[in-house]
Formats: sequence, C-alpha cells, structure tokens
Amino acid sequence: MTLQTRLQTATLGYPHIGKNREVKKALEAFWSGKSDAETLLQIVQEVECKNWQTQLEAGIARIGIGDATLYDRVLDWSIRLGIIPERYRTLTGLEQYFAMARGKDGIPALAMTKWFDTNYHYLVPEITQSLQPADFSDFLATVHRAQALLGDRAVPIVIGPITLLRLSRLESNPEKIIFDLRDRYLVLLRELKNLGVVEVQIHEPALVLGDAPNFKELYQSTYDSFSRVGLPIHLVTYFDDLGAAYPWVMKLPVAGISLDFTRGRNLELLQQHGFPSDKQLGVGIVDARNIWKIRPEAVLSTLETIQSITLNIRLHPSSSLQFVPYDATRETKLPEPLRNVLSFAQQKLDEVALLAQTLAGGDPSDKLAAVQMHWKAFEQFSPANPAVQERLRNLTVQDLERAVPYEQRKTLQPTLPPFPTTTIGSFPQTSEVRQLRVKLKRGEITPAEYEAAIDAEIAKCIQIQEEAGLDVLVHGEFERTDMVEFFGQQLSGFAFTEHGWVQSYGSRCVRPPIIYGDVARTQPMTLREFKVAQSLTNKIVKGMLTGPVTMINWSFTRIDIPRSEQAMQIALALREEVADLEAAGAKMVQIDEPALREGLPLKPERWNEYLSWAVDAFRLAAGVAKPETQIHTHMCYSEFGDIIQHIERLDADVLSIENSRSNNETLFEITNAGYKHQVGNGVYDVHSPAIPSTEQMVQQLKMGVANLPNEQIWVNPDCGLKTRRWEEVIPSLKNMVEAAKIIREEVNATKK
Ligand code: GLN
Ligand code: ZN
Repeated sequence: MTLQTRLQTATLGYPHIGKNREVKKALEAFWSGKSDAETLLQIVQEVECKNWQTQLEAGIARIGIGDATLYDRVLDWSIRLGIIPERYRTLTGLEQYFAMARGKDGIPALAMTKWFDTNYHYLVPEITQSLQPADFSDFLATVHRAQALLGDRAVPIVIGPITLLRLSRLESNPEKIIFDLRDRYLVLLRELKNLGVVEVQIHEPALVLGDAPNFKELYQSTYDSFSRVGLPIHLVTYFDDLGAAYPWVMKLPVAGISLDFTRGRNLELLQQHGFPSDKQLGVGIVDARNIWKIRPEAVLSTLETIQSITLNIRLHPSSSLQFVPYDATRETKLPEPLRNVLSFAQQKLDEVALLAQTLAGGDPSDKLAAVQMHWKAFEQFSPANPAVQERLRNLTVQDLERAVPYEQRKTLQPTLPPFPTTTIGSFPQTSEVRQLRVKLKRGEITPAEYEAAIDAEIAKCIQIQEEAGLDVLVHGEFERTDMVEFFGQQLSGFAFTEHGWVQSYGSRCVRPPIIYGDVARTQPMTLREFKVAQSLTNKIVKGMLTGPVTMINWSFTRIDIPRSEQAMQIALALREEVADLEAAGAKMVQIDEPALREGLPLKPERWNEYLSWAVDAFRLAAGVAKPETQIHTHMCYSEFGDIIQHIERLDADVLSIENSRSNNETLFEITNAGYKHQVGNGVYDVHSPAIPSTEQMVQQLKMGVANLPNEQIWVNPDCGLKTRRWEEVIPSLKNMVEAAKIIREEVNATKK
C-alpha cells in the first residue's frame, strides 16, 4: 500500500451556531414566539448542511457529522438515550427539550457546567434509577441526510458512554446503569451499521482526565461489546494526553484512536510506547482551540516523528472546531499582517488538507512557504515591546508583595460598620445603555454626548446605592460591554474581531479577544468613571478592574510566549491602573478573577504550575497598593477546598464569592481552612429574578456568623447585577441592607 492511499483527513466536529449566528437568532425568535418550530428546525438543518458542504469542498475524507444541536450536544445524547429526569416527563418534544435546557414554569433546568477546560458549557445529565426509552430517530435521520450529500465521507460522531457517565450526576448505582446504557449504544451502533456508514467516531475525552485509569475495566468491557457489532470504531480523545492510561487504551478493540498532539505529552507517550500496527492513528495536529495558523516547521517536525513510529495515520484538527469562529478572511477590519496569520474553522480545514497533501508526497511547498512568509510579516508588524519586556525582567519578589502583612494593613484600612454592605460592581445594563454604544459607533452621538449619558447613569446608580444604604459603593460599570473586552480595547497587543463568535452555551455566543502582541497600558482605563462616581458621594467608591488571569482565560492567547508571561504583562498594566486609582483617592480597588479556577489544567499534577503564575500575576497587579488601600477580589463558581492555599496567597484583603447556589460549601471550605482575611459570602443569587427577602438573607448571614469571626464578614450579592432589572435590584439591595442591620443588632445584643 502506498502512503498516498493510507493517508486520510478527517474532522471531529464543526461550529454549528451559523456563520452569521443564524441558529442563535432562530432560537431567540422561537423562544419569544415570533417563529415556529418548523422554521427553527429548518434553519438548524440549513446551517448544518452548509457546514458539510464547506468540509466537502475542503476535501476532507472523513467528515464528522451529527454534532449540530439546537442547544447542547450532551443534552441531545441524554434525550436520545432516555436520560430524562422525572420532572420533565409530562412534557414532550421541543417543550421538553427546552425545559431541560432552560427550565419552565417552576421546573428547574438541568445544571450547566463547563465542557472540560473549554469555555463551552454543557447540560449535566441526571441519571436516575429508571431511564425512559431510547430514541435515536433524529440522529439516524441526520446520518441519512449526511450520507445523501457526503456518501462514505459521512462519519457519525457519538459521545461515548463512559465520558457521558463521568460527566453526569448519578442518582443510582452506576454498575446497573452502565449495562442499560451499553445496550442502548449497541442498538444505535447496529442501526448505524445498517445505514451503511463506513465507521463511527466515538468521542471519549474523559480518557484524558487524571482518573481515567479507575475506569479501565469499564472501558475494556464496553468496547469489547461494541466491537462485536462489526462496525469500525474510531475512538477519539482530545484536550490533553492519555497519561497513564496510554498503554491499555492502545489495546482497546477499535479500528483507530485519535490523540491530541497540540496539548500534553502524547508525542512522548507515542515514542515511549509505540502504536499498535492493527490500528490507525488519528493525529490531532491543527489546534482547534486557538485561532493561529500552523507554524509549518514545528508541525512538520512533529509529523515526521509520528511517521517514524507509524505510517497508518489520518490528520485532523485537535478536537471539534466548535471552539473557534468560522472564517478569518471575513475580518477585513483587522490589519492584514495579523489577519494573514489567523486561522478559524474554515482555514483549519485547509491546513489539514495541506498537511495531508505534503505528507502524501504532493508538492504544496509554495503554500507552506506562503504561511511562513505571513508569519515573518506578522513578526515585523507586531514587534516586541522592549519597555514591557525590560520591566518584566527587572521584577523582584517585593513587586509581588504588599508593603506590610494583612494583620497590620487591616488596622490602617477604612473603618466601616460591622458587616459592611457592598455590591460586586455592575448594575443593570439596560437596552438604553447598550443602545448608547450602538449610537456612538454609528456616529449618531458624539463621544462627549456618550460620556455625558454614561455619567448620568453613574449618578443615578450612586443615588440608588445611597438610598439603599450601602456602605461601599461602585460606579456601576455602564461603560463596559464586557469585563474583558472593555480592558482589552484599551491595551496594546489586543485585537477584536467582527464576526469571531463562538458558542458559550445554547444561544449565548462570545467573541473572545485575541492577544497578539506585548501588552501595555496606553492610557488610564477606569479613572474617569471612578472620579465621576467618587465626586458624587462621601461614601467610599471601589475601583473596579478585571484581573490578569481572567483576561487570559477568556481570550485567545499567543503561542510564541507562555501564558504566564502574557498574564504578567497584563498585570503590569493593571498595576499602573491601581496606582492611578489610588492617586485619585480610591480607598478600595477590586480586581475580579471570576475565571481563576476555570483555568485549572485537566490533570491535577499540572495545577501547581498554573496556580503559581496565576497567583503571581494577581499579586503583581495588587502589590503596588499602599497598605491603607483595601484590595478586594471576586470569584464566581468557585470551589476552593482543593486550592485554598493558593487563594490565601492572593493576599487580597476582601474576597467575595458566589455561594448561594452551592449551599455554603464554599464558605465551609474557607472556614475549614482557617482563612483569615475578610469574606463576602454572597447572600443572594443574582442569577434569579426573584427578589430575596430580608429574612432569607438574615439566615444566610447567620450561617456566616456561625462559621467566621464577625470582623471577617461582608454582606453582598453573589455576583454582578448587570443582567438584572432595576425593579429587581433596588428592592433586593434594600432588603440586603436591612438584613445587615438586623444582624448587627443581634450580634450587639448577644455581646451585652
Ligand atoms: N465586577 C464584575 C461585575 O459585577 C464581576 C463579574 C463577574 O464576576 N463575572 O459584573
Ligand atoms: Zn461573579
């Protein structure tokens, strides 16, 4: 057999929100009753079909299909497999589907959480004792449609049973359930075989998690039974390496195994343990999690190493391409040298095809040379910033440290009533506020008019906070589209796309900024709004910044320097801002790090390395503050038990946390660890439109009092208020302040 016939190209999934976010728009129209189910399904299928067409035109040989979804792929598989909790069973069809996704009439939705270490969120399957009957008809119909267009190129993508189990909430004995589920998968595999597909991709990304070895027997027996169906299975893994599981995964009875060669140590493992001659190796070589073009030299050298071990390979992106936007060539407003090194989903298909051609002995050398030229041109376009690099080189340990320890600082910082009340920063981003930015962009209002309108919002916000009786005020963040974008737009080294949307969950899409060069502050970023707010009140206004780690975790980052270095550069810029805020009279500055935890690597053995630089970056930003200045930080969705010593090392004076939905677990983790600094354990859930009662918040505060010394306790909502309406915010805050007063009195009474 020649090399040529052996080498294939494949995809593992494609963005499905639509090039112009058609699916998002269709969903929103459907939910608001402006369109019907038929239209919605038609649009979803049109987008899906275009995606297939694009992959076909790029010449991909094995096109992964069946991953398009109305809301979430994991939800789709839950429903197909009959994993439908009791509370949804009176509903059917789309009504049931969206009730599971978003809740309905008091029936809560499934929990949502992050898909591995990506910013995509999936709905957590709830597995109870009894499953509903399985129904694969929609999936089989999709396969059928795909075959009509793609023929043998159509390869169904199925989320593997053990990954599904591993990500589920289990109410019953997993042993029993896995047998049930396995039988259902067997039915599906037989149906697919009957349809005549040439192979099926079963995705088991849970194989890269540190605990995969605990499930070894389960994988073995499951894939033994699957192999007896006689349909070739391509087992797909991504996001990290197989680690200790590598040797036994290689022995599973499957036709092919895909590994991610853009992250982790799969190349080393391959060299160390070899690859079975009876299987095909799927090489995830084009990074599906970032937006840069390949570096031909590096990629070709990796491929050469792989080919010295096995020649039976296929090339594909490292995972589904759903984590990158559709098409970089549309970003015509970006400078050309930058645009030329960007690669979104469509470009990544071409890269896969190009690499395959090269390996098959074709001569696309001019194309590879062109990529190299683009990189050269880019380096000239975005040269290093020597001043920033110099400052980073000259950093000392002292730069990361506050001048005096917490115990001493505490006595120098502002005196407030016991149980001080505050908020997390943002206030309602009403459509009028968002409209202001649209008008500014269109030139319908001048920058001065825009600022005046923002200032009017700030004034209103200050007045409302004073009337509610809050102790520490904020300006409300009306000028910010998004907490990362707002800062990125004012820093050099950041770029923003026009069409670079990626799905976060359901119909929600985000446009992550691109960090492409050395980052530096070119001007004060938050000073004007802070000053306006502080000038309107005698109370303390907290300055409000987004932390370096969150900026990194919610952006596409550079690949030529480590993330740690990029975080330190951002921290330097924020450090200047902290100093400016202080000089303008700020007595408190909050540096938000909601995404600190979500950046944790998948493998626990790499946590320390990440946390060490992440915490350093925060400390670099905050370390400049005078002892008298109180540094706050805020984190959402945080479990701290396993990283508490790193939270302590942040050395923030006050930490506010989201808590109301995790039943005070975070509070217990903090108190168990003997955390000494101040804590604002969110007293109500901002994600719910319900107005919390004073009584409910008093109870919540009593929980704090029972677990922490009173001096350590702050009173605040559990996150920013930007998604809420004023009608909800005003009474909620009044009740919250009332709750603080009640607690103050009760505590006082017990003292006497
Ligand atoms: N200060 C931000 C806000 O209030 C924090 C947002 C967040 O935690 N994600 O909106
Ligand atoms: Zn938050």
